[in-house]
Amino acid sequence: MKYISTRGNAPVLNFEEAMLTGLARDGGLYVPETIPMMKHPDIVALAGLPYEEIALRVMQPFVGDSFSNEDLGDAIQTAYSGFGHAARAPLVQLGPNHHLLELFHGPTLAFKDFAMQLIGQLFQTALRRHNKQVTIVGATSGDTGSAAIEAFRGLEAANVFILFPDGRVSDVQRRQMTTPTESNVHAIAMEGTFDTCQAMLKDMFNDFDFRDGVRLAGVNSINWARVLAQVVYYFSAAVSLGAPHRKISFTVPTGNFGDIFAGYIAKRMGLPIDRLIVATNRNDILHRAISTGRYDTDKVYPTITPSMDIELSSNFERALFDAYNRNGDAVAQLMGEIKKGGFGISQGALEVLREHFDSGRSAEIETADTIKSIFEHTGEILCPHSAVGVKVAEENLGSSPMVTLATAHPAKFPDAVEVAIGQRPALPLCFADLFDKPERKIAMPNDLEQMKSLIRERIKL
Ligand SMILES: *Cc1c(COP(=O)(O)O)cnc(C)c1O
Repeated sequence: MKYISTRGNAPVLNFEEAMLTGLARDGGLYVPETIPMMKHPDIVALAGLPYEEIALRVMQPFVGDSFSNEDLGDAIQTAYSGFGHAARAPLVQLGPNHHLLELFHGPTLAFKDFAMQLIGQLFQTALRRHNKQVTIVGATSGDTGSAAIEAFRGLEAANVFILFPDGRVSDVQRRQMTTPTESNVHAIAMEGTFDTCQAMLKDMFNDFDFRDGVRLAGVNSINWARVLAQVVYYFSAAVSLGAPHRKISFTVPTGNFGDIFAGYIAKRMGLPIDRLIVATNRNDILHRAISTGRYDTDKVYPTITPSMDIELSSNFERALFDAYNRNGDAVAQLMGEIKKGGFGISQGALEVLREHFDSGRSAEIETADTIKSIFEHTGEILCPHSAVGVKVAEENLGSSPMVTLATAHPAKFPDAVEVAIGQRPALPLCFADLFDKPERKIAMPNDLEQMKSLIRERIKL
């Protein structure tokens, strides 16, 4: 399998190279050259299999000969062995035709663990085999950073630097990043918002001397391997509910468009998905783009769903690439217009996007009301992000079963949950000492040169 850039102007890579590279050298994102199809009987055969086996069958065609089946299988087994639920991604019923896909049973209690635990293992296998070291830099609105630090801590092949917006992540998220003691992980508290962190990350990748000098690798959802790992649970959930014999719909709380894009890939592979619904919070650029055709940036408002407080949604570029018939020049031009405030999506491209995606938004008060009403009617305590999804899903219930992705455990966002239902959700027992451990973080201004020297000094180059 070959990977090409959404801006059409970067080297073509195999799976392993695309994973170790992250962002393409032309500023674009890697996507598979073709989407492998899964035949009807192959989907039928997934029903009842362990999650790990479904993962192997769904991902293998994208991995090609980059990893042997045995290495890939071993990485998958290790990745999910620390999850707190035997099903890995269990379904819970919320109402007659509405199901919640609980993606928060991993070691940092958010769906990011599904991808990050796996790529931690795959990086280690690949780097050991080539006897190489890399410097991983990631930007986070909270959950990516904790998942990355958890997945890479102690792995000798990688140093990890995570940039998070100071004061804009929850206490649990921050402590998951700042309390690990391994010397290869570094939590950096940045002045600014998530978009500041993400822009800094892109600047580091676009500085080729620095990028090559420290052997920079990225684990944000710009990394194709992360998107791929998330395709798996669309299959496991859909076959549990009767696919491929019937169509299933999904609603996905969305920030950087990575998780929902994984659903789109599942659909393109042949999984009978009826509707894919993008659920946004007040920072609703994606909802506006899909409903009006204008992708116009606005300021970022802090909300009770900080992992979705994003205005520049990086993976949307992958969807645009397909909507523009895989024309890299057209995508590069649109991305250039973002700096001037935004762009209009062409009529043809908008029709393609609307063929695959619907959208909705949840205002702060609606999110809180949803946590309350779901708790009262079902006993399930939702995290605010999952509640954004449930609220938008409820407006879109139809004839096909609806699955809403529950992206984090409620105990990761206890303040917002307490305001909504009057009680604090408990952390699972294994996190009991999180608030007793000492924290370790580095405060940094939004300054590229200072960031580069810090990284060089820490990896002793
Ligand atoms: C990252 C995150 C999201 C957004 O996912 P994207 O792939 O960026 O769209 C939603 N909810 C939670 C809890 C997250 O951590």
